[in-house]
Amino acid sequence: MSNPKVAYFFDPEVGNFHYGPGHPMKPHRLTLTHSLVLHYGLYKKMNVYKPYRASAHDMCRFHSDDYIDFLQRVTPQNVQAFTKSLSVFNVGDDCPVFDGLFDFCSMYTGASLEGAVKLNNNDCDIAINWSGGLHHAKKFEASGFCYVNDIVIGILELLKYHPRVLYVDIDIHHGDGVQEAFYLTDRVMTVSFHKYGNYFFPGTGDMFEIGTESGRCYSVNVPLKEGIDDQTYMGIFKPIINSVMEFYRPTAIVLQCGADSLGCDRLGCFNLSIKGHGECVKFIKNLGLPTLVLGGGGYTVRNVARCWTYETAQLLDEDISNELPYSEYLEFFAPDFTLHPDLNTTKQENLNTKQYLDSIRIAINENLKNIAHAPSVQMKDVPPDLLNLDSLEEPDPDINNHTNNRPEPNNEYFDGDQDNDKENEGFLDV
Ligand SMILES: [Zn+2]
Repeated sequence: MSNPKVAYFFDPEVGNFHYGPGHPMKPHRLTLTHSLVLHYGLYKKMNVYKPYRASAHDMCRFHSDDYIDFLQRVTPQNVQAFTKSLSVFNVGDDCPVFDGLFDFCSMYTGASLEGAVKLNNNDCDIAINWSGGLHHAKKFEASGFCYVNDIVIGILELLKYHPRVLYVDIDIHHGDGVQEAFYLTDRVMTVSFHKYGNYFFPGTGDMFEIGTESGRCYSVNVPLKEGIDDQTYMGIFKPIINSVMEFYRPTAIVLQCGADSLGCDRLGCFNLSIKGHGECVKFIKNLGLPTLVLGGGGYTVRNVARCWTYETAQLLDEDISNELPYSEYLEFFAPDFTLHPDLNTTKQENLNTKQYLDSIRIAINENLKNIAHAPSVQMKDVPPDLLNLDSLEEPDPDINNHTNNRPEPNNEYFDGDQDNDKENEGFLDV
C-alpha cells in the first residue's frame, strides 16, 4: 500500500492528566509526541482529528456496568467512601484514582473506537491513536496502569465488518487483557511478543497459552528473555507474522506499539532501537490491510515521543531528519537532540539464544498448522455503527492547539512489576 490514507487522532487535553507523583505512566508523553509530529510537518500528510469521547455505554460493551459506574463516580476527593470498591476493582496503587480519570479513559477509548469506525467505513487505510493501547485492563478491573481496554472495544467495532481481526502486541508486557477477552473465539487472533519469566508483569504469556474451545490455537504467545536486540527480534517477529498471515488470513489488524520494549526504558529490559521498533510497524503496514495503530506502555518519555513520531512517519512513507525540529519541548531531548539516539547504553546481555528462539518459532508454527481453514462467518446482518459519524468533528483545523503543561521531574523510581494472580472471567463471546 503506497500513500495510504492515514487518520490521526489527538485530543489536546489527553496529555494533561497526572497519575500522581512518582508514577511512571506519564500522559505528557502524548503531548511531546504530538509536538514532534507537528514540528516535523507530518500533520500535512494525514487527516488530524480531535477524537470522539467514549461514553460509559461504549465502555460497557466490554466492561461490567459496576466497574464503569465506579470509574465514573470515584474522585480523589471522595475516594475514602469507596474502600471496598478499590480492592474489588484493583484501583489504588498501580492504577491510582486521579483527577479526571474517567475523562482520560473516555478520550483514549473514544479515539480507538472512532479509528475503528473510520476503518470500517473506508474513510482511512490506517488509523493512529498513540493515547490508546491500554492492553492490561480487564472486564471487571483495572490492571497495569490500564483502566478501560480501548483495544478490545476497538476490535469489537471492527468485528461488525471484519470476519477475522489480527491483534499484534509489541509492548514488552504480555497483552493479557486483549488475549483474555478473545480467548474463546476464532474471530480474533492475538499475537503478543513480550518478556516472560522471573515474575515479570503480568506473569502470563507462556508459549502454552494458545486459547481454548473455538479459540484454541488463536492465541499466540512469544515469550522472550532480557536484552533482545533488533536483529534477533526481527528474526522471530517476521517469520511468525508471515505464518499468521498465511494460516489466519485476517481482514484487519490492530497493532499495539508499546514503547517499553525499547532499550533504556525505565521499566523495560529489552534492547530495541527506535528503528528496530519502527521496522515492526513498517512490516505490519506493508501487509496492506486496514490497520488500527495504538500506543501502549513506554516509560522513558523522551524515547516514547521519538519512537511514535518516527512510526507516524513510517506509516506515512515519509523520511524525516535525525535532527529534531525546534519545539517548545526541545530540552527534553538533550543532549543529542536527535530522533535516533543510541539506546544500547545499559549493555544488557541478549539472553535469547538462536536455539531458544528456533524452538519457540517451531512450536508456534506447529500450532498454526492446526488452523486448517481460516474461520469465516456470514456477515449478512451488519450491526449498526456505534457512532453517528455525521455528528463527529471534521479534521481538526486547529492542530496547533496542543497544551503546554509541564510534567513533574522524572527522577523517581517506581517498580511497576508485580504478580497478578487474581482470577479473571472476562472472556467475550463473539
Ligand atoms: Zn508495557
